[in-house]
Amino acid sequence: MTEPPRVQPPTRLWIGGEWADADDGGTFPSVNPATEEVIAEVAEAGERDIDRAVRAARDALRDDSWGRASPHRRSLLLWRLADLVDEHADELALLEVQDNGKPYFEARRIDVPSVAQTLRYYAGMADKVQGDTIAVPGPYLNYTLREPVGVVGAIIPWNFPLSMASWKAAPALACGNTVVLKPAEQTPLTALRLGELASEAGFPPGVLNVVPGYGERAGAALVRHPGVDAISFTGSTEVGRTIMREAAGTLKKVSLELGGKSPNIVFADSDLRAAVRGASMGIFYGKGEVCAAGSRILVESSVHEEVVEGLKGLAAKATVGDPMAPTTRLGAIVSEEQLDRVMGYIEAGVGDGAELVAGGERVRVKGRGHFVTATVFSGVEPEMRIAREEIFGPVAAVTPFDDIDDAIAKANDSLYGLAAGVWTRDIGKAHRLASEIDAGTVWVNTYNQYAAASPFGGYKESGFGRDLGFQSALEKYTQLKSVWVALDR
Ligand code: ADP
Repeated sequence: MTEPPRVQPPTRLWIGGEWADADDGGTFPSVNPATEEVIAEVAEAGERDIDRAVRAARDALRDDSWGRASPHRRSLLLWRLADLVDEHADELALLEVQDNGKPYFEARRIDVPSVAQTLRYYAGMADKVQGDTIAVPGPYLNYTLREPVGVVGAIIPWNFPLSMASWKAAPALACGNTVVLKPAEQTPLTALRLGELASEAGFPPGVLNVVPGYGERAGAALVRHPGVDAISFTGSTEVGRTIMREAAGTLKKVSLELGGKSPNIVFADSDLRAAVRGASMGIFYGKGEVCAAGSRILVESSVHEEVVEGLKGLAAKATVGDPMAPTTRLGAIVSEEQLDRVMGYIEAGVGDGAELVAGGERVRVKGRGHFVTATVFSGVEPEMRIAREEIFGPVAAVTPFDDIDDAIAKANDSLYGLAAGVWTRDIGKAHRLASEIDAGTVWVNTYNQYAAASPFGGYKESGFGRDLGFQSALEKYTQLKSVWVALDR
């Protein structure tokens, strides 16, 4: 396997603008899933470390250098951080690859540049956070102030570690909050480096703290901490439920971006070549470890065979291999545990009677690592587990449909509602589906498009609250104060 150039991985907690060990000295290994080597022993935050980070964040909130900083200053700092992300793009991409197993070209060409873009978008927002002047009866001036929520606890998953960190931190900081960020235990490295770079950019100590650790320990402590005002979470629906319950104790503002089982719907009247490519990319991009992965491919019966053949061909071309090799399309699954889960679903698909037409094999690259080939099932019935449950791996479930009503019914037959794709040349049909599908994002004749300006989040059990966007960031990371001034005394 190609050895990546050496980068020094961060190994300690980032609290109050300084590196710190865990209070109890605990550490946990961060493992490269492509080689199974331990990249670093990272300090493991416990309750006392979370408390320390929250205190640092609260102090920073009150400190003049942040609490009274002009919005223009916040804007400059975010822009500078974006520049530093660009300057350190190779290093950040390498850390991401080592931690997550994704192909280097994806991390370097997609993830890291998108992080810089997100930071710049919210740099542009920081000085546009403003209230209204409101007409009220009587001799009064009434206006609203958009104030920061306070300390934001951000808990993020392992699939896009640096992007997710930026999706949470950038809008929260733009709105004047301070942040305690808990990266996923599988992938703590780039978030730690982002914390350090934020200080280099000039953010005052305590404004962005990064505390790696396990969900049930560090994550739970953050959710329960009375000094945290809001929790912004991305992860599984199951953990989302726990967080909502636990946050009730201190009435935190909660937003949850959860799982999905997104339909990608191919009509016979689409540009079929583009549709098949889009359906393949929709499930295999990011190893299928994507909340919005188009894991249910619904295909109009008349073109079903053709689409399945096309998907089969593209699955065979999705080269599994060393994440550092430029030919690799599918990197390593993030961990052995996750690969076991994916393999369990592949077995369930076969057991439930679906036809395995491509992939389904666990492989090792040069004798090591957690890899699986791009997998396609056809003949998937809507009640099968592989059609209902989020797999979070490169496993497509193809199901035929009869007509537009059947397509809508099948698309909406899910507890989830994160995203959907529609492939058709009929503009009326496209808009009808965009309106009738219960999902936070609908892509027409494309898939997996994201931009900092466009809100992203779920309907139904895919959660509530939106990442990205302008208005959605205001709603999530500010609170509204109404001020009344009597004009006659
Ligand atoms: P995945 O299934 O993608 O690993 P999880 O929902 O388990 O997603 O994890 C997403 C994030 O939530 C991770 O940072 C994880 O550590 C954290 N987490 C897991 N359990 C809890 C919990 N009980 N409280 C708070 N955070 C948690």
